[in-house]
Amino acid sequence: MKIHEYQSKEILKKFGVLVPEGRVAFTPEEAENAALELKKGRYVVKAQIHAGGRGKGGGIRLVSNPQEVKDISGQMLGMKLVTAQTGSQGKIVKRILIEEGVDIEKELYLGIVLDRSESRYVLMASSEGGVEIEKIAAEFPEKIFKAYIDPMIGLASYQARNIGYLLGLEGKVLQKGVKFMLGLYDAFISCNCSLAEINPLVITSTGEVVALDTKINLDDNALFRHQDFMELRDIDEEEPLEVEASKYNLNYIKLDGTVGCMVNGAGLAMATMDLIKLAGAMPANFLDVGGGASVETVKNGFKIILSDKNVKGILINIFGGIVRCDRVAQGVMDAASDMNLKLPVVIRLEGTNKEQAEHLLKSSRFSFTVASNFQEAASKIVEIINREV
Ligand code: GDP
Ligand code: MN
Repeated sequence: MKIHEYQSKEILKKFGVLVPEGRVAFTPEEAENAALELKKGRYVVKAQIHAGGRGKGGGIRLVSNPQEVKDISGQMLGMKLVTAQTGSQGKIVKRILIEEGVDIEKELYLGIVLDRSESRYVLMASSEGGVEIEKIAAEFPEKIFKAYIDPMIGLASYQARNIGYLLGLEGKVLQKGVKFMLGLYDAFISCNCSLAEINPLVITSTGEVVALDTKINLDDNALFRHQDFMELRDIDEEEPLEVEASKYNLNYIKLDGTVGCMVNGAGLAMATMDLIKLAGAMPANFLDVGGGASVETVKNGFKIILSDKNVKGILINIFGGIVRCDRVAQGVMDAASDMNLKLPVVIRLEGTNKEQAEHLLKSSRFSFTVASNFQEAASKIVEIINREV
């Protein structure tokens, strides 16, 4: 689960990580009051959306008094913010963070992620902060310092110190940097984060080590341990179709292609997406209806695929193990008549009750194309879509 910057900062603060003083606001008046409360010489108004690159898109503004905070907040709230991470459709700004302005001496990068190939969390740091870290990693990999963390020991202070040296920190600043890294790791583990990024981590003109920007993702599979995190969810920031799908326990991820796919089992879903690409088209989604899908699940899945306006055709690829093929066929037919289906559908069903399913589909008033194997199914749907455009 993604959360907002201001929420991440509130979490980090509890673990002794230094963050600028700030308040969230939903209206220009709240923003002005926040500034009056903070009573600083300078303020930063920061758009809160679940995407980075806000600075370049006009979502980060430095101002000098509460009146300006109010004016700028008025412009920012409700605006469509387009950044490198939002896609061209952008995101509407509904909340803003009002913070004290920080005097920056140096911008660094610090992050913790899981390195799957090493089976360990890795603390990553770079003295090239404030910019797109992916670019630095690709062009100058030697500028990224890494410390792999032993899960039994946790981040050791010598590791944090070593990263601090590599970043060029010295004396008191080094000590503060070490404290920062240990606090960040503590927060990461205690909250079951899947990602924590501080970009930039700044050294201020008075030698403080502060998280100027933070991004935290929480591991969905561990949310049950943190009931209080549920209120951090901001459904406005999520893909509406994915929100809808989560209500039905469907594993759905929206993608940008034109072939909607409904598959059971994540492995088969991945393979189906590969074959669609191989046949020359792009999948519109990942959808795993699960091992024991009912008529209802299939129906809901099918409706979600059909609500995606980019979808030009649908490929259904089901292996009937626990789920019976005739149930899937019934779900598809129900959904097709509910939704007044107009798009081409290619179906490949294999396994339990395959014959009954084919019988059902043939008797339907919709003209489903039945494919006998996986590859044929993928090439057929791509061929039909290409013919129709
Ligand atoms: P992002 O663009 O979404 O990553 O937003 P950030 O919070 O990282 O802000 C982008 C940039 O704005 C930072 O790298 C800083 O250079 C600048 N910035 C943000 N807050 C402050 C601040 O308090 N003082 C100063 N001087 N610059 C800031
Ligand atoms: Mn940033």
